[in-house]
Amino acid sequence: MSINVARPKLTWSERLYLPAIAAGMAITLRHFKNMLFRRTKVTMEYPEEKWDSQLPEHYRGAPALVKDESGRIRCVACQLCEFICPPRAIKIEPGEIPAQDRFSKVEKYPREFDIDMIRCIFCGMCEEVCPEQAIFLRKDYAITGLTRAEMVHDKEKLLEIGGVMHGVVLKWNEKK
Ligand code: SF4
Ligand code: SF4
Repeated sequence: MSINVARPKLTWSERLYLPAIAAGMAITLRHFKNMLFRRTKVTMEYPEEKWDSQLPEHYRGAPALVKDESGRIRCVACQLCEFICPPRAIKIEPGEIPAQDRFSKVEKYPREFDIDMIRCIFCGMCEEVCPEQAIFLRKDYAITGLTRAEMVHDKEKLLEIGGVMHGVVLKWNEKK
């Protein structure tokens, strides 16, 4: 069923449009003047200017894998994060650590570890569920790529973003 909406009755001055245009121009001029005198900063000139130094500690950016101080990848390929990830952005292929390796009691390591950043919703569930404190949401937010394939972060890329975590890691930031 269609509904006819009655046209509003415009006054003489509204039909002239000029007062509305003048009011709009006055607002624009006021903002322009404030900007000239640096009283207001309307936009940040990204990417030349960035907000990075002011990001809070609990900022949730791109998820990444971390190594410990001895250079070992903390992840033990338990796949809990893959299971919990709501948009199924994580894909892990576990590998077995050889018996003669000094970390053989860990049993598994991630042979492949991919996170599809097109799917990732930065929820932090992977970080919360990880029993090894191996995956963290870092401060990187400028995730770009020209193809879908470029938007999939592989193990090397994840380790590059993640870096090294020393000692016991404080994972449970109450603000997260
Ligand atoms: S932050 Fe959330 S969506 Fe992104 S990989 Fe982790 S669990 Fe998946
Ligand atoms: S990152 Fe953590 S939860 Fe995910 S597979 Fe590795 S150890 Fe398991």
